[in-house]
Amino acid sequence: MTDNITGKVIVITGASSGMGEAAARHLAAKGASIVLGARRAERLEALAADIIKAGGKAIAVVTDVTKPADQQRLVDTAVKTYGRIDVLINNAGVMPLSPLDRLRVDEWDQMIDVNLKGVLYGIAAALPYMKDQKSGHIINLSSVAGHKVFAGSAVYSATKYGVRVISEGLRQEVKPYNIRTTIISPGAVKTELLDHITEKDLQKANQDYVGQVGIPAATFARLVDFAISQPEDVDINEILFRPTAQE
Ligand code: NDP
Repeated sequence: MTDNITGKVIVITGASSGMGEAAARHLAAKGASIVLGARRAERLEALAADIIKAGGKAIAVVTDVTKPADQQRLVDTAVKTYGRIDVLINNAGVMPLSPLDRLRVDEWDQMIDVNLKGVLYGIAAALPYMKDQKSGHIINLSSVAGHKVFAGSAVYSATKYGVRVISEGLRQEVKPYNIRTTIISPGAVKTELLDHITEKDLQKANQDYVGQVGIPAATFARLVDFAISQPEDVDINEILFRPTAQE
């Protein structure tokens, strides 16, 4: 019996660290062909080499998700190399938290560009192929912060609420093409996400908290496996998970 992962072609953005990397290793070990996208070329190449050494299939495509042409190249490369695209995991994201009154306008733009427009550009690149195939699966990363807002997370939360809205709209529209859509909303997971918070007080508070309650990125890999491995007539629309100890 097939696990519905073996042989699939899976494109993952933000695959150079954290949850994207964990998912790439896990899904490659299950027999999927993985197309890795992110900006850090060395990290991507090293990950692809690791996967291949372990007997899996992977290629690295340096991608900035804020550039539509990069995302098109990422998806086109998947189709050219492996013949199709079965799953797109729009995982790339940034979370430079700050209270609004600190006016980090540059970081607001960055979150909107990566977390929101990046997801849309991924959809734009993959959807025509999936419509032609009459099959596919688009998985978008939201967050617990896409279900509630807290001081310092207004813009980040806006992008992650937005991801859920886009995903639900997409779900309703792509049904006729047999395309599945899944929103995954993690709570505190130990990754590099907090490294890029520039407001030191918020960075420390979050590092302390995630250091205490955070769970490993492998948790995400297991849950994305759960969503993909369902039979094609079952669509896991949304997964919300967090550490048991998280409020
Ligand atoms: P990491 O910082 O470890 O990973 C983020 C990834 O996004 C990196 O691979 C990074 O690669 C990539 N990325 C950032 N900007 C761009 C860009 N412009 N173009 C392409 N790739 C980019 O964090 P996580 O693994 O935690 O984050 C994965 C997702 O999970 C994000 O969407 C995040 O918002 C979400 N999330 C995380 C939570 C957590 O507690 N960790 C909780 C809730 C949601 P590179 O720098 O090489 O481009």
